[in-house]
Amino acid sequence: MDIVIIGSGIAGVSFAEKFRSLSPNDDITLVTQEHDGYYSRPLLSRGFTRNDIEQSIILKTFDQLRTSNINVIPGTKVTTIDREHKIISLEGPCQETSISYDKLILAQGSAAFIPPPFLPFRELFFCLNSLVDLKALRKFRATFLNRNRHPSWAVIGGGLIGCEIVSDLAVCGDDVTLFHAADRLMERQLTPEDSDLLFNVLDDSGVNVLLNQDVHGFAEEEDKVCVKTDIAAEFDAVIVCCGFNPRTELAKQAGLEIGRGIKVNGYLQTSDPDIFALGDVAETISGKLYAFVLPIRSQALWLAGFLAGQVNLGWTASVFTTKAKVHGFEAAHPYRF
Ligand SMILES: Cc1cc2nc3c(=O)[nH]c(=O)nc-3n(C[C@H](O)[C@H](O)[C@H](O)COP(=O)(O)OP(=O)(O)OC[C@H]3O[C@@H](n4cnc5c(N)ncnc54)[C@H](O)[C@@H]3O)c2cc1C
Repeated sequence: MDIVIIGSGIAGVSFAEKFRSLSPNDDITLVTQEHDGYYSRPLLSRGFTRNDIEQSIILKTFDQLRTSNINVIPGTKVTTIDREHKIISLEGPCQETSISYDKLILAQGSAAFIPPPFLPFRELFFCLNSLVDLKALRKFRATFLNRNRHPSWAVIGGGLIGCEIVSDLAVCGDDVTLFHAADRLMERQLTPEDSDLLFNVLDDSGVNVLLNQDVHGFAEEEDKVCVKTDIAAEFDAVIVCCGFNPRTELAKQAGLEIGRGIKVNGYLQTSDPDIFALGDVAETISGKLYAFVLPIRSQALWLAGFLAGQVNLGWTASVFTTKAKVHGFEAAHPYRF
């Protein structure tokens, strides 16, 4: 059987390794846009305090995966899925322009969500969603440090990732302002008491936390970026952290059923029985998206067992909690998903 996986995040790689261990004779090909190897995405938001992060974030090189007899095609984008002929088209430096599959695993993850009013200003702000993004941010920051200056940052969005980033930048000694639309931080995951505690921890570390902020645009002012709210304030750089957007384009073009993510049944099967989806890109039968590493790894291991013929019952989510990686913060009542 030819198994083809799109994406080398935790979903794609965990599935590939587990399936290889259960099924030594099937062919596994993993196509990914990444160049640097399989890395820990959660560590991205600790990417400023750790000097060796660009190396230490790599969990496995692609050569290490190849030693498990997984054919990795890096730096390559899958552009179309031809479901009738069971072929995907590739764009990149590899020799193949298409490959065929018996079973296709969609694990393309998610992009940063950019609120529509921000789209006209896209060149004026950063996001932090990938190792490429982190390298760009670190390079920008280094230009200030080389001149013995710490940059000033505006971070838009006080959800999990925004709070983690402001915390890490503040610990580095940078000047950080957090703009959040709601009246308390991480309001979807924390109790009001824990939001207050988080506010105080960030405040103590020097972050200027602004709640109830309606950011409606940005403007370039010489070498600064102006954030437009009720007031207008200038910063060296802006990072937008307003959530995630499952990468559904390929599936949509192939005519698969889409909701917010790619819709799957209880067997992580899309509306095409030979195509499966998991991780950030998948919308489960309950309508939920599980964009956290614990449930994604569980999906990947379950799917490998299912396709290897070792599991009959469908995938079910276990209850899990996550920890915000904010320096000095521990929620008293962690949210149970
Ligand atoms: C800054 C940050 C901090 C986080 N912190 C935590 C945390 O503390 N705890 C937690 O549980 N979760 C955390 N998360 C969420 C977690 O990292 C994600 O849910 C998880 O990594 C998603 O894994 P995935 O494999 O589904 O997708 P991804 O990791 O996004 O991988 C998708 C892969 O597919 C590739 N790809 C996409 N389209 C194509 C294409 N057309 N052709 C070829 N390749 C393609 C991409 O290049 C990428 O390699 C964090 C996320 C971020 C961004």
